[in-house]
Amino acid sequence: MHGPQWLERGMKHVWLPYAQMQTALPPLPAVSTQGRTITLADGSELIDGIASWWTACHGYNHPHIRAAVSDQLGRMPHVMFGGLANAPALTLASRLAAMLPGDLERVFFTDSGSVAVEVAMKMAIQYWLNRGRTGRTKLVAFRGGYHGDTMATMAVCDPEEGMHSLYQGALPEHFIADLPVDARSTRALDALLAQSVDNIAAIIVEPLVQGAGGMLFHSPDVLRTLRMLADRHGVLLILDEIFTGFGRTGSMFACEQAGIVPDIITLSKALTAGTMALAATVARRHVFDAFLSDNPMHALMHGPTFMANAMACACANASLDLFEGGDWQDQVARIAQQMRTELEPCRNLPHVVDVRVMGAIGVVELDRIRDMNALKAALIAQGVWVRPFRHIVYLTPAFNITAPELGKLTAAIRTVLAHPV
Ligand SMILES: *Cc1c(COP(=O)(O)O)cnc(C)c1O
Repeated sequence: MHGPQWLERGMKHVWLPYAQMQTALPPLPAVSTQGRTITLADGSELIDGIASWWTACHGYNHPHIRAAVSDQLGRMPHVMFGGLANAPALTLASRLAAMLPGDLERVFFTDSGSVAVEVAMKMAIQYWLNRGRTGRTKLVAFRGGYHGDTMATMAVCDPEEGMHSLYQGALPEHFIADLPVDARSTRALDALLAQSVDNIAAIIVEPLVQGAGGMLFHSPDVLRTLRMLADRHGVLLILDEIFTGFGRTGSMFACEQAGIVPDIITLSKALTAGTMALAATVARRHVFDAFLSDNPMHALMHGPTFMANAMACACANASLDLFEGGDWQDQVARIAQQMRTELEPCRNLPHVVDVRVMGAIGVVELDRIRDMNALKAALIAQGVWVRPFRHIVYLTPAFNITAPELGKLTAAIRTVLAHPV
């Protein structure tokens, strides 16, 4: 197949994400999107099963979001956030504070998830410094976790996923533990905290679902245990809801299912419903208060150039309008139901070891994927956009996907996995 000229020329000059450039499949030329459909240069269409890396929760080109962005574009696309305020950003901060549980009420805007996590880490470490407690510079993170690709966030990812041994010497060392899923692992974490609490600023975890680590689910009890252990030992709890936030697990935020409030929460991905880059780190009042003093060194020294971009914030506000006015909870429940019914038969297919669904996340886990490129190509040939990784094939569709569209996605997975590659 011959692609458009811009593709062939540009491919000599771009460096693709997560790709061994010598063997990676060439990317598909996408030219337009609408609803749940991505249209390619040759006119063919793919149903998007993963909502552009879990972002496009209301589908593509939603008229309400598009109107909000063009309206903001016409008046003021961007002004710096140092010394200048813009209405979309301040409105968004108030709305997020009102939506989030407890006194999570102070919003710091950034432009990507990794940076939001870095800001959360800085907040947690400086929280202790500002209170005169030096030495508390480490985090406790978990095997299977993913918190971003920048150097500081790699260090709190799963050691293998974060390539800790490859980058040895370049990454700071934190404590990587097992999630407290049972009595043994809870005792181990309790002991780790007891022994090293003077060096620990915070625990960081993705609540309910470890996404990029393989869509691994855990129960709300795990989060209650983490909140309890953080309180017992006096360390902060950071929840990274960059993937789980905004309805994906069935509640607006995953932490609501555990009835806990973290000290700091990070948000991105579906924050702008997949239209613009934006992220937020939200702190509870006591965390924010630890930065108030006469000492300029006690301030949070961070400020990305494009933070609180007015168009991105207008877009996030429009997405929140859709959440407020819509029936997303019913949609997510319906998606979960359909995925349970239609992915369950995969359990009998070769190499499948698990099928699991939580909210609008459906996962088929295999014991191995031998030829990832062949699997990706086979899915595309079925007219769907699904990106398997590690040992899993998964769906995280837009919440307003239709039943026939979702049916096409699950059928494609069943068909392709019936003939293992
Ligand atoms: C995607 C993701 C990140 C990183 O976000 P980027 O915008 O890619 O930097 C961090 N944490 C979680 C849980 C994520 O899913």
